[in-house]
Amino acid sequence: MIEQTKEKPEQQKLDKRQFYQASVETLITDLETDEKLGLTETVAKQRLEKVGYNKLKEVEKEPFWHKILAQFEDFTVIILIVAAIISGFTGDALEALIIIAIVIVNAILGVVQEGRAEKAVEALQKMTTSEAKVIRDGKLKQINAELLVPGDIVQLEAGDVVPADLRLLTSSNLKVEEAALTGESVPVEKNAEFEAQGELQLGDRKNMLFSTTAVTYGQAKAMVVASGEDTEIGFIADRLANIEEQMTPLQVGINQLGKVLGVACIVITIITFLVGLLQGGEPFNLFMTAVSLAVAAIPEGLPAVVTIVLALGMNRMAKHNAIVKRLLAVETLGSVNVICSDKTGTLTQNAMTVTHVYTDSELYTVSGTGYDPVGEIKSASGEVVTTDNKSKNFARLLEIATLCNEAALDEADGTYKVIGDPTEGALLTLSGKLAYSKADLQAKYEYVASLPFDSNRKMMSVFYNGIAGSCLSLTKGAPDIVLSHCQFELTKSGLVELTEARRAEILTNNSNLAKQALRVLAYAYKESSETDFSAENGMIFVGLTGMIDPARPEAKAAIAVCKQAGIKVKMITGDYKDTAVAIAHDLGLMQADDAVLTGQELSQMSDDELSQRVNQTAVYARVSPEHKVKIVEALRKQDAICAMTGDGVNDAPALKQADIGVAMGITGTEVAKGAASMILTDDNFATIVNAVEEGRIIYANIRKFVGFLLSCNIGEILVIFLSIMILGPEMIPLEPIQLLWLNLVTDSFPALALGQEFGERDIMLAPPRSRNAKILDKEMTWSIVVQATAIFICVFLGFTYGRYIYPDFIISNGIKDVADFFSPLGLPGHMPSAGARTMAFTTLICAELLRAYSCRSEHFSVFSIGFFSNKVMNRSVLLSMFLLLVVLYVPFLDPVFDTVALTLVDWVVVIVLSAIPFVAGEIFKLLYHHDTRKKVKSK
Ligand code: ATP
Repeated sequence: MIEQTKEKPEQQKLDKRQFYQASVETLITDLETDEKLGLTETVAKQRLEKVGYNKLKEVEKEPFWHKILAQFEDFTVIILIVAAIISGFTGDALEALIIIAIVIVNAILGVVQEGRAEKAVEALQKMTTSEAKVIRDGKLKQINAELLVPGDIVQLEAGDVVPADLRLLTSSNLKVEEAALTGESVPVEKNAEFEAQGELQLGDRKNMLFSTTAVTYGQAKAMVVASGEDTEIGFIADRLANIEEQMTPLQVGINQLGKVLGVACIVITIITFLVGLLQGGEPFNLFMTAVSLAVAAIPEGLPAVVTIVLALGMNRMAKHNAIVKRLLAVETLGSVNVICSDKTGTLTQNAMTVTHVYTDSELYTVSGTGYDPVGEIKSASGEVVTTDNKSKNFARLLEIATLCNEAALDEADGTYKVIGDPTEGALLTLSGKLAYSKADLQAKYEYVASLPFDSNRKMMSVFYNGIAGSCLSLTKGAPDIVLSHCQFELTKSGLVELTEARRAEILTNNSNLAKQALRVLAYAYKESSETDFSAENGMIFVGLTGMIDPARPEAKAAIAVCKQAGIKVKMITGDYKDTAVAIAHDLGLMQADDAVLTGQELSQMSDDELSQRVNQTAVYARVSPEHKVKIVEALRKQDAICAMTGDGVNDAPALKQADIGVAMGITGTEVAKGAASMILTDDNFATIVNAVEEGRIIYANIRKFVGFLLSCNIGEILVIFLSIMILGPEMIPLEPIQLLWLNLVTDSFPALALGQEFGERDIMLAPPRSRNAKILDKEMTWSIVVQATAIFICVFLGFTYGRYIYPDFIISNGIKDVADFFSPLGLPGHMPSAGARTMAFTTLICAELLRAYSCRSEHFSVFSIGFFSNKVMNRSVLLSMFLLLVVLYVPFLDPVFDTVALTLVDWVVVIVLSAIPFVAGEIFKLLYHHDTRKKVKSK
């Protein structure tokens, strides 16, 4: 590990403030770098050792002992410890020590679990570190941005996040969004040629780029002048470091629930205490019981368990290609009811093959699959097109397809792969089928400039110096857009005016191809004697190509799952309407009454109109990124919880606006990834649906352990409260230490195991939960009432049996004596024996462990989901059982826990009784969830 030091490289003599004022030459000399070759790897390594990683100071970790202490901040725990200490001095010191030990062990367990959660989150943050394109040893390389050092030369383009503070060397149409630093929300222009006069504010330093800002347009080459903490953002990082992650609604809800239950608990324990006193109970004993009951029954550990389960879920999602950046998103995912997805690459394979060419008013078919340039091109009459017999138009179309193209084909072991945009790769394959190559053509014409492809313009152009010194502009793009820029057409008989009738005919051909789910591009060019390179007007139309981009089979399956899960899927694409609709049908995404809206229609609609139509619209075609924001807003007005995909820099606002912004990991820009709350490492639609499923599973599991723990706590309160009412103040079935042992040690293992349950078979059959769904709903309340009552019944019966077998005590004249007769109802002066309490304690623990199995499913019988299928649960229960046996059968622990070694007959009774809550839980499910199960069966 390289030490982070404040020391600057020796060669860096300039004051930070002067970077924008100094000339590029001075900076290059001072930073000992080379504009063309960059640094060498050796120098870069040495500098890294001196200046440290290019990252901001990490928030200092809380020391272990701090975290442990934080566990004791709870008021009720402090009371317990004080009470234990007092009881230690006045009575049983060993018991007091053990109580304190249990509380400490519990605190350590809590810290260890939280540590696991923290590690999971940290690991994910590492997976989202950004990359930078840097020139080192004269070669362009992609490296982790943390490895950049002053003097490095980096390249940037639209969509990149600026990785350090940079001084521009060259720039073209460069625009950068600097809101995070300057508060200026619109992108500002930057220019390498800018010369600063005097002192300037950050926002006015036009020749500088600042770390963490985003390139929204254009390209640039720049030199790193400051990295890590030395950057401008580094100066304000201290302010940023302290921003804590907000609590998720579920965490807030559970916290509130915990507080309400806590108050209820305290009220009940006070009543228990007062009633006990009125009945003549011994105040100190009653006080200890009340305090331990409060500590045991108040669910203060719940929020921590929720965080742990969310964080572990985040980890599981990452293993399945979905990197979720915030805990909140894990939770929101489970309630998503609309997924808006891009088409290309997400719903389709982004593996393009040109299958049709339309030129000379004739339609040609192209054979061959993949990117291998092997296949035949045939006219409608069956004539094969060859390099020799191809028409002039065909040749021009191939020239445009090859030169107006930024992709490259890479051949390895006979198979071809695309580097760059697959759409463009497919065009290179097409030209390759007639032996055209980019290198040959580039040798023929001299490259001048280009207007790159952009989702808003939907076309691109390149400009070359033509053969006779003329300017040749070559354009390809969406047919309707390209046609609107054309004035002429190249036909077999030469150049003619493009008539309205011909335009209509070309658009019909476009539609015919699009209806076969093909992605259609149009080609045009212009030759002029002037060197007007920006002209994309008055062009000559040449032809069309149609390429297939097969739907992803797994997307089709995932859409079917969404339908059953009540999640609407909407396709939002820049592609042509007919292509989009054809693919939507192919994927099963459109129902009979679903509508299609185009970007143009969208632009003309008011927000209200859109809100009314948004639910019924399944496909949005020919949209631009800004339409996506409109769509998300309209959906959210209709109460949708919406996931939205995106990859481009312009998609960032929509990704931020959506409840879950989903960025593409492979094709996505750094800006899109930064704005999103989830990143798909495989760009696959099915991964989103899997993540939603995982989100639902996590929520369901949280419900399971919340239900499990609350019914146990309430059951215990019933046991103590009702026993005092029925039997009298001395007849408390459970000792304080036993209550603590059960709640803080035994019960927590199965609860965590419930948090790791697998998904149930109806998880994607129920509709999504609403935004305001409460965790403690009617269903859970009833289930808790049933279970808590069953717990009371079994423990009370166990206790009564115990009192029968292990007689009560009476204290007469200060001497403890065995009572000589048994009454099921308590008798004045009688006190329960250790044996009776052991029966109550053991029955309660066994009931809990057995009941945990029933809690594994809210709707189905545990026998139908496979009784032992949760391995974590099996291990937890075995561990808890083992600990119980230790308490019961290790002789020196008996006096501490006030237990006796139970006999075989006792165990038979315990096992029979402890089945009561389990059976009650199973019967409750059978009756209450009859309809749910029927629905599952019918699907
Ligand atoms: P999605 O938004 O679902 O990814 P898309 O890829 O079709 O769909 P865009 O990338 O915005 O959306 O493309 C819009 C249109 O621009 C396409 O339908 C196509 O006609 C045209 N187009 C796409 N790629 C290029 C390209 N490289 N050069 C020229 N035109 C293109």
